[in-house]
Amino acid sequence: MISAKPITIAGAGLIGASIAWRLAQAGATVRLFDSGRVGGEASWAGAGMLAPGSEFLRQSQWTELALESLDLYPGYVEELRQESGLEIDYVGCGAIEYPGAPEDWPAMRERGESQRAYGLACEVGENELRYPRDAVVDPRQVMDALAEACRRRGVEIHEGAPLNHYDTQGAPLVIAAGAWSGRLAITENGKKVPLPETVPVKGHLLGYRLEPGTLKTILRRGHTYVLQRSNGYTLAGSNEERIGFDREINAKVVADIAERAARLCPLLEGRAHEEAWCGFRPQTKTGALALGRVEGTSVWLAYGHYRNGILMAPSTARRIAEELVAG
Ligand SMILES: Cc1cc2nc3c(=O)[nH]c(=O)nc-3n(C[C@H](O)[C@H](O)[C@H](O)COP(=O)(O)OP(=O)(O)OC[C@H]3O[C@@H](n4cnc5c(N)ncnc54)[C@H](O)[C@@H]3O)c2cc1C
Repeated sequence: MISAKPITIAGAGLIGASIAWRLAQAGATVRLFDSGRVGGEASWAGAGMLAPGSEFLRQSQWTELALESLDLYPGYVEELRQESGLEIDYVGCGAIEYPGAPEDWPAMRERGESQRAYGLACEVGENELRYPRDAVVDPRQVMDALAEACRRRGVEIHEGAPLNHYDTQGAPLVIAAGAWSGRLAITENGKKVPLPETVPVKGHLLGYRLEPGTLKTILRRGHTYVLQRSNGYTLAGSNEERIGFDREINAKVVADIAERAARLCPLLEGRAHEEAWCGFRPQTKTGALALGRVEGTSVWLAYGHYRNGILMAPSTARRIAEELVAG
């Protein structure tokens, strides 16, 4: 049974907007609030690799959700294209990961072999791991399509409307405010609802204009990766800094990423990047996903996806929407 009360969602990034869309499809009355606009922060900044292969080195709470999402992605994108009438660039290009140094290879090979046991398609090569099912999506296009699909489904959208202090009065609330989630002050009939704390993990990306079709797969080595969209736009990343919500583009970090990326992908040698930007990956203080109902309350958590929220949006939305619909 769907809730007769409106469901309020704090945060209109990929996670919050996907949940809003799924709930509206199920017939719920949904109110989506964002301190900025529908489009998200990390979701706007992210590269869009759907690449659990190099992310989940052992089985954990994340792997099931990530693999489920990888399976859901083609259908999720197709349904969004149809409901919004907008194009979304999604390419099932696979990924190749190289070791950082020759001495890293034995452990990496062992990891690749063990990943197969929990369902990750991994091919172990001579000196590289291949993940043929990994893919790339343009998260900004996904966000545009989600915004349109939500509007068409009648989601009430409130932009420039932060939910900083909010009392649920017993009506369902979903917290999907990315790296800001832990800062919200939520009460239920006057009683404080405890929320897992969040840490913003800053990361930079560089964008290059290349000919379409010049890079056929995602390339990875350690924290360095290069991927290409269908129109040739090529992204290189990244780094990690835990220094709060600092939006400054760090020239040293940018130069380091450019140098690492050119070593990994010779196509970038001698090329200048067109733009550089940064964003905040949402991590919880413990590193665990904040997912599901806060016991004894009408508050649901959907945050802490860290480096993989673009990948994990479809399965997160499915799970949270199903729980809310079930009552
Ligand atoms: C450089 C970089 C590269 C990345 N690459 C990838 C990748 O390749 N693949 C992948 O899967 N993931 C990647 N990620 C991670 C991914 O982007 C995030 O995990 C994901 O976007 C999180 O989505 P979200 O909706 O939780 O957060 P966000 O997109 O940050 O959305 C949160 C929203 O909440 C709003 N908000 C904040 N405070 C409030 C409030 N008080 N009330 C209401 N709204 C509020 C914000 O304005 C924002 O719109 C990357 C991230 C970065 C930074």
